[in-house]
Amino acid sequence: MDQLNASQADWLHYDVMDGNFVPNISFGLPILQAIRKATTKPIDVHLMITQNDAFIQPFKDAGADILTVHFEACTHLHRTIQAIKQAGMKAGVALNPHTPVRVLKDIIADLDLVLIMSVNPGFGGQKFIPQAIQKVKEAKALILESGSSALIEVDGGVGMSNIKSLVEAGADVLVAGNAVYGAADPVAAANELKNA
Ligand code: ZN
Repeated sequence: MDQLNASQADWLHYDVMDGNFVPNISFGLPILQAIRKATTKPIDVHLMITQNDAFIQPFKDAGADILTVHFEACTHLHRTIQAIKQAGMKAGVALNPHTPVRVLKDIIADLDLVLIMSVNPGFGGQKFIPQAIQKVKEAKALILESGSSALIEVDGGVGMSNIKSLVEAGADVLVAGNAVYGAADPVAAANELKNA
């Protein structure tokens, strides 16, 4: 946590996996509570779970500032987004690589964040899917057209080789996992990415 606080990273991205929506299990609420006590940086929680509605308030209570759910996991997405905002958090929607940006047309005005997955969710260290750059451009166009104030975030395989194209395409927030934590000096790596 000292390294995170010392870095120029703006947000902390926290991946939650349930072993059902994705074939892997990650951190849950108790670790988030501990992290909340250790940092003042905004915590951006990315839910990769099936039962989103039941966990909105628990994640708020554990310290989430931004809560992102997967389009593919929410049958009643509009209701879920309203519930996240009513709980006092910013609301995001994540799109898997196979899900087109246009599915967000009728919800974009309500969103604070659009998360474009540039790998299939579930595991770290995967290779960036280049189609994500085109999806960022489409999301940017949709946001401008609708007057939405949503930010565009990209998650998966982000590193020095694709940062420039992603930012040029309209990405506002880039999630770096391996590019930071796989480096010999994570603080320097985070700062280098930030200043690229
Ligand atoms: Zn994530």
